[in-house]
Amino acid sequence: MIKTATENSNMKIICIGRNYAEHAKELGNATSTEPVFFLKPDTAISPKGHPFFIPDFTDNVHYEVEVVLRINRLGKHIEERFAHKYYSEIGLGIDFTARDVQEEVKAKGLPWEKAKGFDGSAVISRQFISKDDLNLSDLNFSLTKNGETVQSGNTKDMLFHFDSIIAYISQFYTLKIGDLIYTGTPSGVGPVKSGDTLEGFIEDDKMFRVNVK
Ligand code: MG
Repeated sequence: MIKTATENSNMKIICIGRNYAEHAKELGNATSTEPVFFLKPDTAISPKGHPFFIPDFTDNVHYEVEVVLRINRLGKHIEERFAHKYYSEIGLGIDFTARDVQEEVKAKGLPWEKAKGFDGSAVISRQFISKDDLNLSDLNFSLTKNGETVQSGNTKDMLFHFDSIIAYISQFYTLKIGDLIYTGTPSGVGPVKSGDTLEGFIEDDKMFRVNVK
């Protein structure tokens, strides 16, 4: 059985921003020539089966559905051609974002972590799928809100693909077993309110369900 992220207290969560051109556009951001990344602390992981509680400090929390890699080997300065050896399974998660807070810190040129790293902001599927069972360069994933599809992405639209993300990040950070990489969200991000239910899918497999409180 796979160890879940919440059982690993020494892990870090690395998130890629602006990795789908249509999403960058919807938030009025230019796309970048290098991956944009930020961190969430391990306390951001939403405990298994818990609802998502909208924090008091925001009036505009957005869902961002993302394909998630789990690192399975220790590495630094990983060459892109070897990067595929550093993950064997794919999960799905939500990078919850306090959009109002993010707009405020962005306008001031400050870091995003206040808007991105709060408790419960990292939803992660319990189940991970072996990458051998998937076509990683043409993988459909989606999010429904109250049964209606709100985001639908395909990994072929990523600006930086998994191996290039790992090569890039590992220039700066040692990657450790259990680290999670959220690989960016497609367009269609939007707000949640109390009572909403979000469900995430990789192809036709339901990966998680989250109730918003
Ligand atoms: Mg994101």
